[in-house]
Amino acid sequence: MRRIFLLTFFTLALFAAAQASGLTTRPALTAAASVPKPHIVWKPIPFGAKRKAEMAAYARRHYGINTWRLQQPHVIVEHYTASSSFSSAFNTFVSDTPDSELHELPGTCAHFVIDTDGTIYQLVSLGTMCRHTVGLNYTAIGIEHVGTSDAQILRNPRQLRASLALTLWLTQKFQIKLQNVIGHNESLSSPYHRELYSGWRCQTHGDWRRQDMIVYRNDLRALAGQYGIALGSQPKLRPTGC
Ligand SMILES: [Zn+2]
Repeated sequence: MRRIFLLTFFTLALFAAAQASGLTTRPALTAAASVPKPHIVWKPIPFGAKRKAEMAAYARRHYGINTWRLQQPHVIVEHYTASSSFSSAFNTFVSDTPDSELHELPGTCAHFVIDTDGTIYQLVSLGTMCRHTVGLNYTAIGIEHVGTSDAQILRNPRQLRASLALTLWLTQKFQIKLQNVIGHNESLSSPYHRELYSGWRCQTHGDWRRQDMIVYRNDLRALAGQYGIALGSQPKLRPTGC
């Protein structure tokens, strides 16, 4: 009897400990329904042997890894182009010249650009690293939106709908949690942020600030809910040391 009592006691204690640590209550990513792949226009930028070698050299300098390949991405970074046409963004990414701000090769790029009419263009394969966010390129998919402010994109239903559909599809494809769908301006507080070059450790951009990304992520979570998918919670504010 005493043994049974003790066993029951320990079982209950273990259960309570598991609950307290969140092991039994952590929201799981469930594939209740498949998210349809949105229509994507394949419009590749040149990414030949020279640019791949430049990307691998960049990854070596900044992340300590010797590859141009993007493997098992953990983060999606949302951007806007700070321009008003798809063609100007496309031409910038086509050109494999040192960027005007940091003066490094390869040229900057993003995997996707979403036009103001909601057309989704894919410029780079998802298996290839792209230079869009200092500190995160080794593990992040980059999505650009044609526009000049977060608010402009949030107010454009066609562009926002396309963006949410693409992002949700990618979160399911790569099992990425809501907290790792971030705006460029949130890059420094990502737990995946890594930068070996000290001069760039605090470098980020102003596109997609936290307050606008909270709105975006709430919309994304609502869309996920329509498929019975629990994406998890908003990212916690982490100190960046910058
Ligand atoms: Zn950006």
